[in-house]
Amino acid sequence: MEAYTIKGRVVLVTGASRGIGRAIALEAARRGASAVAINYRSGATEAGEVARLVEEAGARALTYRADVSSWSQAKAMVDSVARELGGIDVVVNNAGILRPKPFREMEPGDWEEMFRVHVFGSMNVARAAIDHMETGVIVNISSVLALRPEEEASHYSAAKAALVAWSMALARELAPSIRVFTVLPGGVDTRMARAWGSMDWVEEQVPLARLAKPWEVAKLVLDAVENPYITGDILTISGGLL
Ligand code: NAP
Repeated sequence: MEAYTIKGRVVLVTGASRGIGRAIALEAARRGASAVAINYRSGATEAGEVARLVEEAGARALTYRADVSSWSQAKAMVDSVARELGGIDVVVNNAGILRPKPFREMEPGDWEEMFRVHVFGSMNVARAAIDHMETGVIVNISSVLALRPEEEASHYSAAKAALVAWSMALARELAPSIRVFTVLPGGVDTRMARAWGSMDWVEEQVPLARLAKPWEVAKLVLDAVENPYITGDILTISGGLL
């Protein structure tokens, strides 16, 4: 079996206006993707800047505003990507929110939103995309918090764990033509991690004593996309946090 290469592929990355998604979009372009679809919900200017950098790296780039938690928006986006970019080969479900809160202070809307974005959002995009994919790869970005829960993120941990279970099941259904796997980062240096509050936990709990850089996660994602034996797998990148 030959390596699956990103070269010449159409790659859709959700939540690619900043952070990890932005790094994945740029790394896909550097590895020779023919086109990168950059999804975002509100950061149009940031998404436009990512598109500029993707084009500088030699790939076509189009930005797509869509809330992935809405089936109609996700489907319309995916169908436009396939039509405008000539198909879809690789989907990275990366869009996410954190919203730390003690469970005692939560209301149903808090956990519903968490599942809508992470679980239903990934399902929406994947379900729409497989109608355009005879072969390809679906990557779901989970979190080590799926396996190593923390206070004030029980809704997030639950949604990220559901994402792992769904990915493993989907990998079985879609094999061997479409591979599906999850990547579970620890702390990554993005707006999301900084919004958690004090950063003292990094030195106290992470053996490498720092957050990952977004490119370090992007490299793992794309190395795994290019590895034809990875499906149903759960890949952690946590600097020892797990
Ligand atoms: P980030 O910097 O906050 O970026 C989140 C991205 O998701 C933004 O582009 C945002 O777009 C987009 N987004 C949020 N909700 C969306 C929705 N409903 N529809 C479409 N796009 C949406 O976060 P990040 O740290 O890069 O996180 C990326 C992924 O990695 C998330 O799934 C997160 O849970 C996971 N993760 C992060 C860490 C970490 O430490 N940073 C660790 C483990 C896992 P707009 O700004 O345009 O709304």
